Amino acid sequence: MRILLVEDERKLSGVIKRSLNEFNYAVDLANNGDDALFIAESNPYDLIILDIMLPGKDGISICRNLRKNKNDTPILMLTARDDEEDKVTGLDSGADDYITKPFSYPEFLARVRALLRRKNTVKTTRLKIADLELDQLTRKAYRSGKEIELRPTEYSLLEYLMNNAGQVITRTMISDHVWNGDFEAFSNVINVYVNYLKKKIDYGHSKQLIHSLRGVGYMFKEE
Ligand code: CA
Repeated sequence: MRILLVEDERKLSGVIKRSLNEFNYAVDLANNGDDALFIAESNPYDLIILDIMLPGKDGISICRNLRKNKNDTPILMLTARDDEEDKVTGLDSGADDYITKPFSYPEFLARVRALLRRKNTVKTTRLKIADLELDQLTRKAYRSGKEIELRPTEYSLLEYLMNNAGQVITRTMISDHVWNGDFEAFSNVINVYVNYLKKKIDYGHSKQLIHSLRGVGYMFKEE
């Protein structure tokens, strides 16, 4: 699960990020409205947590923009005060839920889970590239229709690679998104897992899907 957190107060964004990381959500951070809109439009997220008062574009206009461009990622808005008008405007602009700062973390996390659940019941998500299919609900992979057994980390890694197919994926990106930055980018652990995955996915197939780019990282692509 990958979440975009848009919050300009560094102390608060740090605490929120850590609380989400604890539950194994991968979190990207944006601290101004213009970056936020760009990042949200160029990456697939499972949830966007969006503060209203931001430098640059405010949360309401970001939300309107995303919905106008048919982006239906669930949005949880953070409102600074118990302001009825902010809540109404927020929901009207296309947000799915809001929470008023300061909030309790158990409640915040419950709302995050609820929105992620809602997303998963509405969408049957199946990624398909070449003859490799990934079912994001059952977390199973199939190559040429044949099921491939994946361990949880291998699944997360493959999902990340497929979501970024055709792009250069550095070890730092993998470390940040699959391991929440727990490993250094040069850590051998990433190589080891990519190799496990290559064996499971590509071994015995004429078309390679996972490619190593020497000194750079990896790329998932159909050749
Ligand atoms: Ca703010």
